[in-house]
Amino acid sequence: MGNSVSELQVNIQMVDLQRQYHRLQNEIDAALLATVEKGQFINGPEVKSFAGKLADYLDVPYVIPCANGTDALQIALMALTLKPGDEVIVPVFCYVAAAEVVALLGLTPVWADVDPDTFMVTADTLAKACSSRTKAIVVAHLFGQCCDMDSILSFASRQNLYVIEDNAQSMGAVYRFPGGQTRMAGTMGVIGTTSFFPSKPLACYGDGGAMFTHDQQLANTLRMIANHGQQSKYHHQRVGCNSRLDSIQAAVLEVKLSHLDEFNKARQKVADRYDEGFKRCKGIKVPQRTASSTHVFHQYTLQVNNGKRDALQQFLKRRNIPSMVYYPLPLNEQHAFRQAFRPVEKPEVASQLCKTVLSLPIHTEMREDEIQYIIQQVNAFFESDGLQAGCE
Ligand SMILES: *Cc1c(COP(=O)(O)O)cnc(C)c1O
Repeated sequence: MGNSVSELQVNIQMVDLQRQYHRLQNEIDAALLATVEKGQFINGPEVKSFAGKLADYLDVPYVIPCANGTDALQIALMALTLKPGDEVIVPVFCYVAAAEVVALLGLTPVWADVDPDTFMVTADTLAKACSSRTKAIVVAHLFGQCCDMDSILSFASRQNLYVIEDNAQSMGAVYRFPGGQTRMAGTMGVIGTTSFFPSKPLACYGDGGAMFTHDQQLANTLRMIANHGQQSKYHHQRVGCNSRLDSIQAAVLEVKLSHLDEFNKARQKVADRYDEGFKRCKGIKVPQRTASSTHVFHQYTLQVNNGKRDALQQFLKRRNIPSMVYYPLPLNEQHAFRQAFRPVEKPEVASQLCKTVLSLPIHTEMREDEIQYIIQQVNAFFESDGLQAGCE
């Protein structure tokens, strides 16, 4: 089939930050200008104000801002009483950050495989990775929904393990415990972390991150580590690091936090349209939504059957539709982690997912015509495929 006019006109982004800025321009410009006028670029009033608002939103007493989501994980691990050689279980199908900081701190990362439908670790996959040296686990609420925290928290408490929640991708998701009690993603473990990298659900215009906790003493420790281990000015209690959120980023974040629920709803709407549009397409599996969590769709991640993933991605690319493979390699196969820290069973599910996953464009500014065009083209790929794996 030839290029229609609409195909040539499309300018679809995985995440469209320009369009979002233009919609919020008045609010953002005012916040940025006011920050520049005040001139307190580090630890200005904007940082405190934003941290307070985020604490209210998450219903957690302590929010400690820092420089990025990777630092947040590192500082969280530094604040817990861990010794070199202690094992920390991390998801093997994930962004590298958690595994990286575990290794950097002289701790031992141990891979946990994931569930084939949710892409996330479960109490069972964690149990398989657990040993007598395991002291902590990092779980990631991947692509926009929460892990099965009820069973993970029970498992961790039986084994006496710290749980750190990496919530870089699911800010605003709500977890429901079997008893009906609800909690915001990132506020159920001993420490929660997040990233405000521009493409994340709650994002700034550069780097940023934060940690959350219910524990006052731990909050003080996290704050101290992020500020050179300083207890009072020029008195350093422990070796820390320099990890700050800029006032300008905090000002942007405060504006965006006031729109977060609306942003998440906008992405959920796109996901609903995709689910509907792919209903009769047999060649793909749409993302599963767990019953215990809302899904804020940081990513809309398909599983493409029969080895057709790369061909579908090329087909879409030729039609100006971007897509991404999150993630192309399980962490145990990354060169940086090639020496097995402690051999565990091969993560069969993660290896398989790396060959089948494909994330489609999803963001707060997608137009109906763009969504329809993407649905049409994905379906067209399987129709033209002529195989039984295609659409009916
Ligand atoms: C983005 C991300 C991080 C790292 O955040 P940075 O701000 O880029 O350091 C960590 N974990 C997960 C799951 C992420 O998606």
